Amino acid sequence: MDKDKLYDMLILGGGPAGATAALYGARAGLSVAVLEKMMLGGEIVSTAHLDNWPGLPDGISGPEFGELLQKHLDKLEVPVFYGEIETANLTGKVKKVTFSGQEYSGKTALIATGTVPNLLGVEGETELRGRGVSYCATCDAAFFRGKDIVVVGGGDAALEETIFLTRFAEKVYLIHRRDKFRGCSWLQQKVLELPSVEVLWNTTVSKIDGKDRVSGLVISQGGKERHLDVQGIFIYTGRLPNADYLKGIEMERDERGYIITNPKMETSVEGVYAAGDIRQKFLRQVVTAAADGAIAATAVSQYLYAY
Ligand code: NAP
Repeated sequence: MDKDKLYDMLILGGGPAGATAALYGARAGLSVAVLEKMMLGGEIVSTAHLDNWPGLPDGISGPEFGELLQKHLDKLEVPVFYGEIETANLTGKVKKVTFSGQEYSGKTALIATGTVPNLLGVEGETELRGRGVSYCATCDAAFFRGKDIVVVGGGDAALEETIFLTRFAEKVYLIHRRDKFRGCSWLQQKVLELPSVEVLWNTTVSKIDGKDRVSGLVISQGGKERHLDVQGIFIYTGRLPNADYLKGIEMERDERGYIITNPKMETSVEGVYAAGDIRQKFLRQVVTAAADGAIAATAVSQYLYAY
Protein backbone atom coordinates (compact mmCIF):
# COMPACT_ATOMS: atom_id res chain seq x y z
CA MET A 1 0.00 0.00 0.00
CA ASP A 2 1.19 3.51 -0.78
CA LYS A 3 1.03 4.64 2.80
CA ASP A 4 3.55 1.91 3.79
CA LYS A 5 6.05 3.06 1.21
CA LEU A 6 9.18 5.05 2.07
CA TYR A 7 8.92 7.93 -0.40
CA ASP A 8 11.95 9.87 -1.57
CA MET A 9 10.03 13.08 -1.00
CA LEU A 10 6.94 13.46 1.12
CA ILE A 11 5.26 16.71 0.18
CA LEU A 12 3.07 18.36 2.78
CA GLY A 13 0.61 20.58 0.91
CA GLY A 14 -0.51 20.61 -2.72
CA GLY A 15 -0.50 24.32 -3.51
CA PRO A 16 1.66 25.75 -6.30
CA ALA A 17 4.83 25.10 -4.25
CA GLY A 18 4.02 21.48 -3.38
CA ALA A 19 2.59 20.66 -6.81
CA THR A 20 5.62 22.11 -8.62
CA ALA A 21 7.98 20.20 -6.31
CA ALA A 22 6.01 17.04 -7.07
CA LEU A 23 6.30 17.51 -10.81
CA TYR A 24 10.00 18.38 -10.70
CA GLY A 25 10.61 15.46 -8.32
CA ALA A 26 8.68 12.98 -10.47
CA ARG A 27 10.49 14.15 -13.59
CA ALA A 28 13.81 13.63 -11.78
CA GLY A 29 12.78 10.02 -11.11
CA LEU A 30 12.03 10.44 -7.40
CA SER A 31 9.12 8.67 -5.72
CA VAL A 32 6.93 11.46 -4.40
CA ALA A 33 3.59 11.71 -2.62
CA VAL A 34 1.53 14.80 -1.95
CA LEU A 35 -0.53 15.13 1.22
CA GLU A 36 -3.23 17.73 0.62
CA LYS A 37 -6.16 18.93 2.69
CA MET A 38 -8.71 20.05 0.12
CA MET A 39 -7.88 20.44 -3.55
CA LEU A 40 -4.70 20.62 -5.54
CA GLY A 41 -3.82 24.28 -5.97
CA GLY A 42 -4.33 25.16 -2.31
CA GLU A 43 -5.17 28.77 -1.65
CA ILE A 44 -5.16 29.65 -5.34
CA VAL A 45 -8.31 27.56 -5.83
CA SER A 46 -10.19 30.08 -3.70
CA THR A 47 -8.87 33.01 -5.74
CA ALA A 48 -11.17 34.32 -8.42
CA HIS A 49 -8.58 35.14 -11.01
CA LEU A 50 -4.85 34.56 -11.35
CA ASP A 51 -3.72 37.49 -13.41
CA ASN A 52 0.03 37.48 -13.12
CA TRP A 53 1.13 34.05 -14.28
CA PRO A 54 3.65 34.66 -17.08
CA GLY A 55 2.43 33.76 -20.54
CA LEU A 56 -1.29 33.91 -19.71
CA PRO A 57 -2.22 37.45 -20.77
CA ASP A 58 -5.92 36.88 -20.00
CA GLY A 59 -5.19 35.20 -16.69
CA ILE A 60 -6.89 32.04 -15.50
CA SER A 61 -9.45 31.31 -12.79
CA GLY A 62 -8.07 29.89 -9.54
CA PRO A 63 -10.18 26.69 -9.73
CA GLU A 64 -9.14 26.11 -13.36
CA PHE A 65 -5.48 26.53 -12.42
CA GLY A 66 -5.96 23.95 -9.64
CA GLU A 67 -7.53 21.51 -12.10
CA LEU A 68 -4.60 21.92 -14.49
CA LEU A 69 -2.12 21.22 -11.67
CA GLN A 70 -4.09 18.06 -10.87
CA LYS A 71 -3.99 16.97 -14.53
CA HIS A 72 -0.27 17.61 -14.66
CA LEU A 73 0.40 15.44 -11.60
CA ASP A 74 -2.00 12.75 -12.87
CA LYS A 75 -0.03 12.62 -16.09
CA LEU A 76 3.15 11.96 -14.10
CA GLU A 77 1.27 9.44 -11.90
CA VAL A 78 2.07 11.32 -8.70
CA PRO A 79 -0.14 10.06 -5.86
CA VAL A 80 -2.08 12.81 -4.11
CA PHE A 81 -3.73 11.85 -0.81
CA TYR A 82 -6.50 13.95 0.72
CA GLY A 83 -6.90 14.40 4.46
CA GLU A 84 -5.57 16.25 7.44
CA ILE A 85 -2.01 16.34 8.78
CA GLU A 86 -2.22 15.45 12.45
CA THR A 87 1.38 15.11 13.63
CA ALA A 88 4.80 15.29 12.04
CA ASN A 89 7.98 13.68 13.28
CA LEU A 90 10.61 15.16 11.02
CA THR A 91 13.84 15.05 13.00
CA GLY A 92 14.95 11.45 12.35
CA LYS A 93 16.49 9.97 9.18
CA VAL A 94 13.02 8.82 8.17
CA LYS A 95 10.41 11.59 8.24
CA LYS A 96 7.00 10.46 9.51
CA VAL A 97 3.68 12.20 9.12
CA THR A 98 0.37 11.07 10.58
CA PHE A 99 -2.27 12.03 8.07
CA SER A 100 -5.94 11.30 8.74
CA GLY A 101 -4.98 8.40 10.98
CA GLN A 102 -2.41 6.84 8.60
CA GLU A 103 1.35 7.13 8.84
CA TYR A 104 3.33 8.20 5.75
CA SER A 105 7.13 8.08 5.58
CA GLY A 106 9.71 9.86 3.49
CA LYS A 107 13.47 10.09 3.18
CA THR A 108 12.87 13.82 2.96
CA ALA A 109 9.91 16.06 3.72
CA LEU A 110 8.89 19.27 2.01
CA ILE A 111 6.74 21.61 4.08
CA ALA A 112 4.47 23.54 1.73
CA THR A 113 1.27 23.99 3.73
CA GLY A 114 1.02 27.71 3.11
CA THR A 115 -0.88 30.03 5.36
CA VAL A 116 -4.24 30.40 7.10
CA PRO A 117 -6.34 33.58 7.49
CA ASN A 118 -5.40 36.00 10.20
CA LEU A 119 -8.64 36.42 12.14
CA LEU A 120 -9.97 39.82 13.18
CA GLY A 121 -10.64 38.47 16.64
CA VAL A 122 -13.89 40.40 17.21
CA GLU A 123 -17.15 39.24 18.75
CA GLY A 124 -19.34 37.42 16.25
CA GLU A 125 -16.50 36.44 13.88
CA THR A 126 -16.20 32.78 14.88
CA GLU A 127 -19.87 32.38 15.78
CA LEU A 128 -21.06 33.63 12.36
CA ARG A 129 -18.33 32.05 10.20
CA GLY A 130 -20.05 30.51 7.18
CA ARG A 131 -23.21 32.50 7.97
CA GLY A 132 -22.17 35.83 6.55
CA VAL A 133 -18.54 35.85 7.72
CA SER A 134 -16.23 34.59 4.98
CA TYR A 135 -12.54 34.41 4.14
CA CYS A 136 -13.14 33.27 0.57
CA ALA A 137 -14.90 35.49 -1.97
CA THR A 138 -14.64 32.91 -4.75
CA CYS A 139 -16.42 30.34 -2.58
CA ASP A 140 -19.14 32.58 -1.16
CA ALA A 141 -19.65 35.64 -3.40
CA ALA A 142 -22.72 34.19 -5.13
CA PHE A 143 -24.62 34.15 -1.80
CA PHE A 144 -24.38 37.93 -1.69
CA ARG A 145 -25.97 38.80 -5.00
CA GLY A 146 -27.73 42.17 -4.69
CA LYS A 147 -26.68 42.56 -1.04
CA ASP A 148 -24.56 45.09 0.83
CA ILE A 149 -21.30 43.71 2.14
CA VAL A 150 -18.00 44.67 3.70
CA VAL A 151 -14.44 43.71 2.83
CA VAL A 152 -11.82 44.28 5.54
CA GLY A 153 -8.13 44.85 4.76
CA GLY A 154 -5.88 46.99 2.62
CA GLY A 155 -3.53 44.48 0.99
CA ASP A 156 -3.56 42.89 -2.48
CA ALA A 157 -6.02 40.21 -1.38
CA ALA A 158 -8.59 42.70 -0.04
CA LEU A 159 -8.32 44.87 -3.16
CA GLU A 160 -8.48 41.99 -5.61
CA GLU A 161 -11.46 40.36 -3.91
CA THR A 162 -13.27 43.70 -3.60
CA ILE A 163 -13.11 44.00 -7.38
CA PHE A 164 -14.46 40.46 -7.76
CA LEU A 165 -17.25 40.99 -5.22
CA THR A 166 -18.63 44.03 -7.07
CA ARG A 167 -19.87 41.56 -9.71
CA PHE A 168 -22.32 40.20 -7.14
CA ALA A 169 -22.98 42.70 -4.35
CA GLU A 170 -25.04 45.87 -4.69
CA LYS A 171 -22.59 47.80 -2.54
CA VAL A 172 -19.16 46.96 -1.15
CA TYR A 173 -17.74 48.89 1.78
CA LEU A 174 -13.98 48.45 1.94
CA ILE A 175 -12.85 48.97 5.51
CA HIS A 176 -9.20 49.74 6.11
CA ARG A 177 -7.59 50.65 9.41
CA ARG A 178 -5.24 53.24 7.90
CA ASP A 179 -5.49 56.03 5.32
CA LYS A 180 -3.33 54.27 2.74
CA PHE A 181 -3.62 50.87 1.09
CA ARG A 182 -0.79 48.37 1.30
CA GLY A 183 -1.75 46.66 -1.97
CA CYS A 184 -0.20 47.44 -5.36
CA SER A 185 -1.05 50.68 -7.12
CA TRP A 186 -2.86 49.25 -10.15
CA LEU A 187 -5.29 47.35 -7.89
CA GLN A 188 -5.77 50.48 -5.78
CA GLN A 189 -6.59 52.49 -8.88
CA LYS A 190 -9.07 49.88 -10.11
CA VAL A 191 -10.85 49.73 -6.73
CA LEU A 192 -11.10 53.50 -6.40
CA GLU A 193 -12.70 53.74 -9.85
CA LEU A 194 -15.54 51.32 -9.02
CA PRO A 195 -18.81 53.17 -8.37
CA SER A 196 -20.26 50.51 -6.07
CA VAL A 197 -17.25 50.58 -3.72
CA GLU A 198 -17.06 52.95 -0.79
CA VAL A 199 -13.75 53.00 1.08
CA LEU A 200 -14.01 53.64 4.81
CA TRP A 201 -10.51 54.80 5.78
CA ASN A 202 -9.17 54.78 9.34
CA THR A 203 -11.95 52.42 10.29
CA THR A 204 -12.00 49.18 12.28
CA VAL A 205 -14.64 46.57 12.96
CA SER A 206 -15.55 46.31 16.66
CA LYS A 207 -18.26 43.66 16.48
CA ILE A 208 -20.18 41.53 14.00
CA ASP A 209 -23.91 41.43 14.77
CA GLY A 210 -26.44 38.75 13.98
CA LYS A 211 -28.25 35.79 15.49
CA ASP A 212 -28.37 33.17 12.73
CA ARG A 213 -26.72 35.28 10.03
CA VAL A 214 -24.77 38.52 9.87
CA SER A 215 -27.17 41.44 10.20
CA GLY A 216 -24.68 44.28 10.51
CA LEU A 217 -21.44 45.48 12.01
CA VAL A 218 -20.33 47.90 14.65
CA ILE A 219 -17.49 49.94 13.20
CA SER A 220 -15.22 52.44 14.84
CA GLN A 221 -14.03 55.64 13.17
CA GLY A 222 -11.92 58.16 15.08
CA GLY A 223 -13.02 56.70 18.41
CA LYS A 224 -16.72 56.91 17.49
CA GLU A 225 -18.75 53.75 16.98
CA ARG A 226 -21.61 53.34 14.53
CA HIS A 227 -23.71 50.58 13.04
CA LEU A 228 -23.29 49.53 9.42
CA ASP A 229 -26.19 47.67 7.85
CA VAL A 230 -24.64 44.83 5.83
CA GLN A 231 -25.37 41.16 5.27
CA GLY A 232 -21.84 39.86 4.80
CA ILE A 233 -18.24 40.47 5.75
CA PHE A 234 -15.19 39.20 3.85
CA ILE A 235 -12.04 39.32 5.94
CA TYR A 236 -8.69 39.76 4.17
CA THR A 237 -6.42 40.92 6.95
CA GLY A 238 -3.37 38.93 5.98
CA ARG A 239 -2.34 35.38 6.72
CA LEU A 240 -0.32 33.36 9.20
CA PRO A 241 1.86 30.29 8.60
CA ASN A 242 -0.15 27.07 8.63
CA ALA A 243 2.21 25.17 10.88
CA ASP A 244 0.36 24.00 14.00
CA TYR A 245 1.45 20.42 13.31
CA LEU A 246 5.11 21.52 13.61
CA LYS A 247 4.72 22.41 17.29
CA GLY A 248 7.48 20.82 19.31
CA ILE A 249 9.88 20.54 16.36
CA GLU A 250 12.96 22.69 16.74
CA MET A 251 13.21 24.46 13.41
CA GLU A 252 14.45 27.95 12.69
CA ARG A 253 11.53 30.34 12.22
CA ASP A 254 11.11 34.11 12.24
CA GLU A 255 9.18 36.09 14.85
CA ARG A 256 5.87 35.52 12.99
CA GLY A 257 6.48 31.79 12.69
CA TYR A 258 7.54 31.68 9.01
CA ILE A 259 10.14 28.97 8.33
CA ILE A 260 13.64 30.15 7.53
CA THR A 261 15.38 28.35 4.67
CA ASN A 262 18.60 28.74 2.75
CA PRO A 263 18.54 29.32 -1.04
CA LYS A 264 18.16 25.54 -1.58
CA MET A 265 14.94 25.62 0.51
CA GLU A 266 16.65 23.58 3.24
CA THR A 267 15.35 24.25 6.74
CA SER A 268 17.50 23.95 9.85
CA VAL A 269 16.38 20.28 10.15
CA GLU A 270 18.33 17.88 7.97
CA GLY A 271 16.29 16.42 5.11
CA VAL A 272 13.44 18.85 5.69
CA TYR A 273 12.68 21.55 3.13
CA ALA A 274 10.13 24.36 3.02
CA ALA A 275 8.61 26.09 -0.02
CA GLY A 276 5.95 28.66 -0.79
CA ASP A 277 4.11 31.05 1.50
CA ILE A 278 5.05 29.23 4.73
CA ARG A 279 8.65 30.26 4.20
CA GLN A 280 10.12 33.58 5.25
CA LYS A 281 10.39 35.43 1.95
CA PHE A 282 10.16 38.78 0.24
CA LEU A 283 7.35 38.07 -2.22
CA ARG A 284 4.44 35.67 -1.67
CA GLN A 285 3.05 34.94 -5.12
CA VAL A 286 2.07 31.84 -7.08
CA VAL A 287 5.08 32.26 -9.31
CA THR A 288 7.52 32.48 -6.39
CA ALA A 289 5.87 29.51 -4.67
CA ALA A 290 6.27 27.45 -7.84
CA ALA A 291 9.91 28.53 -8.10
CA ASP A 292 10.53 27.49 -4.49
CA GLY A 293 9.02 24.08 -5.24
CA ALA A 294 11.25 23.56 -8.26
CA ILE A 295 14.35 24.50 -6.28
CA ALA A 296 13.38 22.28 -3.33
CA ALA A 297 12.82 19.21 -5.54
CA THR A 298 16.15 19.73 -7.28
CA ALA A 299 17.91 20.12 -3.92
CA VAL A 300 16.18 16.97 -2.61
CA SER A 301 17.32 15.06 -5.66
CA GLN A 302 20.94 16.05 -4.95
CA TYR A 303 20.60 15.34 -1.21
CA LEU A 304 19.40 11.81 -1.91
CA TYR A 305 22.63 10.85 -3.73
CA ALA A 306 24.25 10.63 -0.29
CA TYR A 307 21.25 9.33 1.70
P1 NAP B 1 -1.19 41.70 3.58
O1 NAP B 1 -0.46 42.23 2.40
O2 NAP B 1 -0.42 41.34 4.82
O3 NAP B 1 -2.31 42.77 3.96
C1 NAP B 1 -3.10 42.61 5.09
C2 NAP B 1 -3.96 43.84 5.25
O4 NAP B 1 -4.82 43.63 6.36
C3 NAP B 1 -3.14 45.08 5.53
O5 NAP B 1 -3.68 46.17 4.82
C4 NAP B 1 -3.29 45.28 7.03
O6 NAP B 1 -3.31 46.62 7.42
C5 NAP B 1 -4.65 44.69 7.29
N1 NAP B 1 -4.77 44.12 8.64
C6 NAP B 1 -3.96 43.21 9.22
N2 NAP B 1 -4.41 42.88 10.45
C7 NAP B 1 -5.53 43.61 10.64
C8 NAP B 1 -6.45 43.72 11.70
N3 NAP B 1 -6.33 43.02 12.82
N4 NAP B 1 -7.49 44.57 11.57
C9 NAP B 1 -7.64 45.31 10.43
N5 NAP B 1 -6.80 45.24 9.38
C10 NAP B 1 -5.76 44.41 9.49
O7 NAP B 1 -2.04 40.38 3.23
P2 NAP B 1 -2.75 39.88 1.87
O8 NAP B 1 -3.47 40.97 1.21
O9 NAP B 1 -3.49 38.66 2.28
O10 NAP B 1 -1.53 39.46 0.98
C11 NAP B 1 -0.61 38.47 1.46
C12 NAP B 1 0.50 38.28 0.43
O11 NAP B 1 -0.06 37.68 -0.75
C13 NAP B 1 1.12 39.61 0.01
O12 NAP B 1 2.48 39.39 -0.19
C14 NAP B 1 0.44 39.92 -1.30
O13 NAP B 1 1.23 40.69 -2.17
C15 NAP B 1 0.17 38.52 -1.86
N6 NAP B 1 -1.01 38.56 -2.74
C16 NAP B 1 -0.81 38.97 -4.03
C17 NAP B 1 -1.87 39.06 -4.88
C18 NAP B 1 -1.61 39.53 -6.28
O14 NAP B 1 -0.50 39.82 -6.62
N7 NAP B 1 -2.60 39.62 -7.14
C19 NAP B 1 -3.16 38.75 -4.45
C20 NAP B 1 -3.34 38.36 -3.13
C21 NAP B 1 -2.24 38.28 -2.28
P3 NAP B 1 -1.99 47.53 7.37
O15 NAP B 1 -1.79 47.86 5.93
O16 NAP B 1 -2.35 48.70 8.21
O17 NAP B 1 -0.89 46.70 7.96
